[in-house]
Amino acid sequence: MDFLPALPQGHYRQLGVVLRAAISGERAKNLLLLLKEAGLVWATAAGAASGRSRLSGVTEPLVWGYFTLYRSPRRVYVREVTVREDFWTLRQNPGKLRAALEICADAARFSLPGHPPAEVLPILYWTLKALEAGTEPAAVRLRFLYRWGMALGIVPGLDRCSACGKPFTQGFLTLQGLLCTACAGPSPATACLPLGEKELNRLKKAVMLSGKDFRNESFCRDELPLFGKVSTLLTRLIENSV
Ligand SMILES: [Zn+2]
Repeated sequence: MDFLPALPQGHYRQLGVVLRAAISGERAKNLLLLLKEAGLVWATAAGAASGRSRLSGVTEPLVWGYFTLYRSPRRVYVREVTVREDFWTLRQNPGKLRAALEICADAARFSLPGHPPAEVLPILYWTLKALEAGTEPAAVRLRFLYRWGMALGIVPGLDRCSACGKPFTQGFLTLQGLLCTACAGPSPATACLPLGEKELNRLKKAVMLSGKDFRNESFCRDELPLFGKVSTLLTRLIENSV
């Protein structure tokens, strides 16, 4: 992968986050950044793999801040990082860290170089905040995928049919969207999840609560398999579209 932003040669300062970091050569790191204006960018942080470098601690995944970059004709270099949030407590918990890195991997898969939707960075930021607060990871991932899909304009609302637009209380989540019983037809597609009123209400709770209420919500164990199945379908829906 070789993501070069559509920026002319020169210096830039952009808000963003490190999604992935890999050691490159003797002491450099290659970083996959998600930036507010440039979208996904691979950048090289020279010397950052050395513990003595001032870039070493600030070029780890989940670090948020302002990245000072230099775009040469061939690649992008990270010159400096002004950290706004390093999610230190999230990193100290292996389970939460794993969930956070999985979500960063989703964010990388669903983003493109160029101009991302304005909501994308805040969605990722508040997703990591919810994980940090201890909200159930399956619910956090579902909310992240749903909101990301909404920002990209491809995930359907939860209260009406994607095909005919009629409001409903039960339906089928498919790769064509959320369909009412009539639009789904007599033998719905195989990648299809029936959602009754109870399931739709559980999903609405996970995706519609305010950020603060969501972080305080304790989801019960029997809701989690539903969240997992819906997340799998949402992933496919988003992947098909980007
Ligand atoms: Zn319909």
